[in-house]
Parts: sequence; C-alpha cells; structure tokens
Amino acid sequence: KSAFADVKLVIPAEIFHLTKLYQEDKHEKKVNLGVGAYRTEDNKPLVLPIVKKCEFEVVNDLTLNHEYLPMSGNPDFIKVATELLLGSDCKALQEKRVAAVQTVSGTSACRLAADFLAKRLKRRAVFFPDPTWENHGEIFKHAGFKQFKNYAYWHKKRRQIDMSKLLVDLASATEGSVVLLHGSAHNPTGMDLTKKQWKQVAEVIKCNNLFPIIDTAYQGFATGDPDRDAWAIRYFANQGIELMAAQSFSKNMGLYNERVGSLVTIIKDPKLVPALISEQMLYVRPNYSNPPAFGSRVVAKVLGDKKNKEEWLKTLREMTDRVKTMRKELLQKLQKLNTPGRWDHIVKQRGMFSFTGLNEQQVARLIKEKHIYLTRTGRINICGLNTKNIDYVAESICQIVK
Ligand code: PMP
Repeated sequence: KSAFADVKLVIPAEIFHLTKLYQEDKHEKKVNLGVGAYRTEDNKPLVLPIVKKCEFEVVNDLTLNHEYLPMSGNPDFIKVATELLLGSDCKALQEKRVAAVQTVSGTSACRLAADFLAKRLKRRAVFFPDPTWENHGEIFKHAGFKQFKNYAYWHKKRRQIDMSKLLVDLASATEGSVVLLHGSAHNPTGMDLTKKQWKQVAEVIKCNNLFPIIDTAYQGFATGDPDRDAWAIRYFANQGIELMAAQSFSKNMGLYNERVGSLVTIIKDPKLVPALISEQMLYVRPNYSNPPAFGSRVVAKVLGDKKNKEEWLKTLREMTDRVKTMRKELLQKLQKLNTPGRWDHIVKQRGMFSFTGLNEQQVARLIKEKHIYLTRTGRINICGLNTKNIDYVAESICQIVK
C-alpha cells in the first residue's frame, strides 16, 4: 500500500481550475473572464514589444552566463525596480533606508514578508481587507501567522468602499498588528482608496503603530501611469512610516511566467539595512536559494534605458486604455438592455478586475448555461472582454440577473 493511499484530489486554486474548464469547453461562444492576465482585442496574450526586444538583447549578450545570482538577486534589477516603485527622488532611497531584495515575483515577495514578520513580530495579528486576493491568507498561514483578521473594505450593497468601517476596524486593531493593503487596482474589487482616504489610513497606521505591507501587483495597471499608481506607497514613505512592499512585474510587463518581483522594506535607520537583508536571506536560502535571472535582466533593460522605458509606458497606456474602453462599453450595454440593478461601479473600478456584484448562483449559471467563466465571488477580468464577445457577455449577464 502506498504511503499516500489517502491522497485526495483537491482544487488548490479556483483560478487555475477555471482556466482548465474553459480550455476543455468546446462551446464556440465561451469566454474566459477568470484568469488575471491581459488579453488583446483578439483574445491573445500580449508579449510587450519592448519586452521582446530586450529579451533578444539578453539572449544575444555573450558576456552573460548562468551563474547563480546572489540570494538577494540581481543588483541592476533591484536598482531600477526600486526607483520605479518609490520614485528616484524618494527621500528614503536617498537616505539609504530601503532594503530591497529580488523575489520569485509578487507571491514570493508576500511570502518572504510573511516569513520574516512571523518570526520578527511574534504573536501579532495580520489584517486583510475583506475581500482580498485569495492567496494572501494561505501565504501568511504557511509562514506561521496564527491570528487572522479582516478590516472592512467592500460594501456589498452600495458597491463601494466602506470607508467608515474600514477606519474603525484599523483603529481597533491591537497596536503593532500587521495590515495588508493593496497599492493600486485592488484585487478582487478593482476599487481603490482616494488620496484623502489613503491619508486617513496613514493617520490610523501611525496612531495605532500598525505595520503595513503594501502589495503592489498592478503598478501602472490602474491608471496607465506607474507614478500615479504608486502615490500611496510614496505618501506612506514620506510620512516616515516603516513598511514593506511586494512588487511584481507579472502584469505591468506581461512577465507572468518569468516570476520577476521584489520585496522592498523601508526602515527608519539606514544602519539596519544590511542586517535586515541578511535576516531575510535566512528564509530565501532554504526556500528557493536564489531568484531566477532572465526576467530580472529583461526588466533591468526595459527600465534602465530612457527610450525603452518610454516605449514600455506607451504600451502600458494602450493596455489600460483598452480596459477602460471595455468597462465603458460593458456598462452602456448593460444599461441599454435595462439590466436590473446598478452597474456604474464597473467604470469606477480600476485595473483588470471588476467586482460585478453577481452572486454565487448567478456565477454558476453563467458558467453552466452561457460558458462564461468567472470566479465564485463575481469578479470578472475586464481584459477578457473584446468587441467580439462583449455583446454576448452583456446579454448573458442581463438574462441571468432578470
Ligand atoms: N498580489 C495580488 C493582489 C495579486 O493579484 C497577484 C496576482 N494575481 C499577486 C500578488 C502575485 O502575482 P505574481 O506572483 O505573479 O507576481
């Protein structure tokens, strides 16, 4: 008998399961609004032209080899990635109070933050927005956190942020708790705080001495401008708040499977930076030992050259413009069809996702009857819409909610 005779078939992640169901579906009108990846008007993945160009340059660079990177990653990448996140005029950067390490994209940046904080800030609670990316809880659980709390974020009925409850929840958090925030394009709701609201959150964080982790998986994907999307983290840094940020190049450079990201820690005392990085390496070494090089070299080339960067920014704007157009069109079509309920939140939300407000039963029917795939929570990836399928999607939603 096998030592694993009792293994059970599980679904580790709804999102990968949905993609599989979509791929197996033979229906001609099937639509995938599940997976969080950009799609072109032709429903194809996009390799950004400037990314492709830089990939060729990396491949053709005969001075490069496949030696291990340092455990903390590729220094050329770290420099440009950190500047993209914080802005090159960032005071914390100038004062050398930033400890940045390359990670296996945003997921492993979150995990490294969680590993480090679980050990360093023993017994503390971690607060997640309600709702949040479904992997956050698992990551922190595996890192050893024991206390999990939610702070209010989404008001289901009003389909907007429940700001007053959010502030109450953070104000009543035990002093020193860890609080996870989404830098921009909140997943799954697509609803971000305004500058005024971010300032209120920063105030509570300071008063209550909370430790923020800002998960920044969509820098540039909310507004099309990475500087605007990094406003909150830069504001927090300028307020002298110690924080961590998880950075990812999956979405904004379309480098999903290259796994490029970083964990950035801003601390008050620059003298602590080397020790802090060295302690973080205690979690990297027994985990993946050192990060992969290729994607980091590509990002370093894209961001390290003014012209390349401009071209990247142009494509980023084109991608986000397409998403914004699809939002507007979906709203117009739903309204034209007299779809019951309010739908204007679709155009107030930003980034890839829209939290539609569709309930679990409606989602199940959309999948079964209409071959439109989306998560149980009613989240849709707007990038999965295009001029060819948007009428079908709007009509299907209308029929299901009627
Ligand atoms: N955080 C959030 C909020 C996300 O939505 C994602 C991607 N779905 C990630 C982190 C991590 O993505 P990756 O590991 O590809 O960088």
